[in-house]
Amino acid sequence: TSFHELGLSKQIVATLSQQGYEKPTPIQENAIPLVLEGRDLIGLAQTGTGKTAAFGLPMIEKLTADDKRPDPRNIRALVLAPTRELVNQIAANLRIFVKNTPIKVGVVVGGVSINRQHDQLSRGVDILVATPGRLLDLISRKSVTLTQGRYLVLDEADQMLDLGFIHDLRKISKLVPKNRQTLLFSATMPKTIADLAADYLTDPVKVEV
Ligand code: AMP
Repeated sequence: TSFHELGLSKQIVATLSQQGYEKPTPIQENAIPLVLEGRDLIGLAQTGTGKTAAFGLPMIEKLTADDKRPDPRNIRALVLAPTRELVNQIAANLRIFVKNTPIKVGVVVGGVSINRQHDQLSRGVDILVATPGRLLDLISRKSVTLTQGRYLVLDEADQMLDLGFIHDLRKISKLVPKNRQTLLFSATMPKTIADLAADYLTDPVKVEV
C-alpha cells in the first residue's frame, strides 16, 4: 500500500517522499483511512511506530481541505502529550508535514516564557501541540480558546495518566466542542484510560499494532 492509496493528496504524498517516507507503517496503514473518514479512534501503539504521522497526516489533509479559519486565538486542532520533549518531537514532525500548506503548528509547554506563547497564539495557530498544565494556564489567561476545535488528539494517554494529568485531560476534553473528532493513543489501556475513552470518544474504532 502507498500513502496515496490510503487517501492522502498528491501534495502531502510529495512532501512525504521528499522526507524519505515511502511506505506507510502498520499503524499508518490502519489509521489513516479511518481518520480521513471521520471516525474516532483508539490507537494502541508505542512510540516509534509512526503514530504521529498516523494522526497528523489525515488531520492535516482535512484541515487543508476545510480552509475556514477561525479567529486568532481559536485553534482548529489540539494535540496533548505528557512531556515537553514529546510535544517538541510531535510538533517538529507535524511542521515537516505542513510544508507547502498554510497550516500553522504551535507549541505550548511549561518551563519557558508564557508571554511568548501568548504572542504566538495571538498570531494564529491551526494545530496546537501542548502539555496539559501550561495549556490550562493559557486558557485561563484567555490566550487561547478551544471552542472552534475540530480535532482532539490525546497522545501517550497512559503516560499522561501516570504523570497525574487525568483531571486536566477531562477538563480540557470538555472545552472542545462535542462534534469534534477525537483520537486517543496509548501503549497500554488501564481502566482509567478506558473510562476516559468511553466518556470522550464517540463510537471509536480500535487499532492495535
Ligand atoms: P513516531 O512513532 O511517530 O514518533 O515516529 C518514529 C520515527 O519514524 C519518526 O522519526 C518518523 O519521522 C519516522 N517515520 C514515521 N513513519 C514513517 C514512514 N512511513 N517511513 C519512514 N519513516 C517514518
